[in-house]
Amino acid sequence: TIGILALDAAGNLSGACTTSGMAYKLHGRVGDSPIIGAGLYVDNEVGAVAATGVGEEVVRSVGSFLVVELMRQGLNPENACREAVKRIMEKKPELTKNIQVGFIALNKKGEYGAFAIQTGFSFAVCDNNDQKLLVKSKSAI
Ligand code: ASP
Repeated sequence: TIGILALDAAGNLSGACTTSGMAYKLHGRVGDSPIIGAGLYVDNEVGAVAATGVGEEVVRSVGSFLVVELMRQGLNPENACREAVKRIMEKKPELTKNIQVGFIALNKKGEYGAFAIQTGFSFAVCDNNDQKLLVKSKSAI
């Protein structure tokens, strides 16, 4: 998945995502990326979130919507992503230790963060001075 989140000069949030889906997927499978609330969710009053990884687990947890709602309750972007990952892992500890799910999040203040089950998930940040930064996400495992 490629997920993109943005906060513009007027303070408006937006997001987009695209995906190739999972390897060996069943014909007709619909992943999380095209489902608003699962692979992508933007609430212009709170924040924007995109997911990557095993879409079935993201759909089941309505993951991106969950992360936005956790930010609405006051969690910063990284902790909101961490909590959503934790909930997915708690449901199926044996399965989820072998799969990847990660979230990136951006809030209305321009704070951003990410969290994933496995290591190796990184994201790029570009600010209004065109400064680019590659950030390695924290992970549960
Ligand atoms: N989330 C995607 C899916 O399950 C896979 C990916 O990360 O590209 O379809």
